[in-house]
Amino acid sequence: MAQLSDDCFAFGGPLLSVEAAEALIAARVPAPAGEDMVALGAALGRVLARDLPAPLPLPPFFNSAVDGYAFRHADLMGEGPTRLVLAGRVAAGQPAAPLAPGTAARIFTGAPMPPGADTVLMQEDAALAEGAVLVPPGLKPGANARPAGEDVARGALALPAGRRLRAPEIGLAAALGCASLPVRPRVRVGVFSTGDELASPGAALGAAQTYDSNRFTLLALLARLPVEPVDLGILPDRAEACAAALASAAGAHDLLLTSGGVSTGEEDHVRAAIEAGGRLVFWRLAVKPGRPAALGVLRGAGGASIGGTPVLGLPGNPVAAVVTFLHLARPLVLRLAGALPEPLLRVPAESGFRYRKKSGRREYVRVRLAPGATLPVAEKFEREGAGLLTSLTECDAFAELPEDVVTVAPGDPVRVLPFAALF
Ligand code: AMP
Ligand code: MG
Repeated sequence: MAQLSDDCFAFGGPLLSVEAAEALIAARVPAPAGEDMVALGAALGRVLARDLPAPLPLPPFFNSAVDGYAFRHADLMGEGPTRLVLAGRVAAGQPAAPLAPGTAARIFTGAPMPPGADTVLMQEDAALAEGAVLVPPGLKPGANARPAGEDVARGALALPAGRRLRAPEIGLAAALGCASLPVRPRVRVGVFSTGDELASPGAALGAAQTYDSNRFTLLALLARLPVEPVDLGILPDRAEACAAALASAAGAHDLLLTSGGVSTGEEDHVRAAIEAGGRLVFWRLAVKPGRPAALGVLRGAGGASIGGTPVLGLPGNPVAAVVTFLHLARPLVLRLAGALPEPLLRVPAESGFRYRKKSGRREYVRVRLAPGATLPVAEKFEREGAGLLTSLTECDAFAELPEDVVTVAPGDPVRVLPFAALF
């Protein structure tokens, strides 16, 4: 398991800006060391462990981009159409014979250009007459032909170490002939919920109980990352039980995530549990919803003072848990996975709402996006509250209101984080 030094997050401030928290993670969490070779078919979502230089050019040879007629551009007459005798035919997958001057070859998309030919006339633009093709004027040299290496030159960096392998990266690796790739081990993340009021879905709901949603939201968010998520159940609101559970889970995981119990109420035991088993950095994050969030490093097995497992205590309110996940857990997981940073996508929009907020903290307002005259218009969800699950299911984006903003009026420019890129 990855090991962090227990003072790696040490910092002085009481209320951390989102940016400072992200910078701290980027600077202090070491990149992982191990790597596995996995078959291409099993590489989706993994993190490339080493740079991949192209072992061959892409495309590998000079070829036609269209169905048509290949010829030498130097043979064109200038003003009028040029008549070139048809000599040869080359289909995809076949070798091409050299092209004699003053002739053209029938050619199909992906077929190699006959040596000597440099340009292709699309079949839609060709007139045929008695074993010859009439080439109209105006084609540029090299038109409709794809040089070897125009996509990737031989030896060029095709994919950098740290790149997450998605459909396009898998396709590029395949095009380069890679049957397997070196990837970083998945980050093993254990997820706890905390709270005596919580019941697991499927169990009977007692009086004063509510079903645990965060564990399932967090596991689903983790499933989009290079993670092996582990469901560790619900912890009771008792300090010793929380401490014991964290201590016993620490050794087998690269990261522990909890939600709830991280505020300052006397029924909030996660901070004390982290302190009992390691070192706490209490991150009161300058963000709404989501302010209480604790980060710590749990001592390794045997109580070693250096080396341990990071633990992130997210707030209990479901929307606050999601917002802090995106700003803390996501970059932390990406670092532990050896992935390159992936800043959240912010898209310009126009406010369709009026709003007041406190300065000094960043706020995420849940919005629906509607087409506008130029930019999409962000309409605020009717109700507020960090516990409203439907504010996420019924909206499309968070409008991100920066720290210094105190009022937003209809028509104001805002930046939004589309849920499609997050969930
Ligand atoms: P806490 O931070 O533990 O005081 O929790 C804040 C609010 O979030 C309370 O209303 C909790 O019931 C709720 N909450 C905490 N954990 C969960 C969870 N796993 N699923 C749903 N709601 C939760
Ligand atoms: Mg609680």
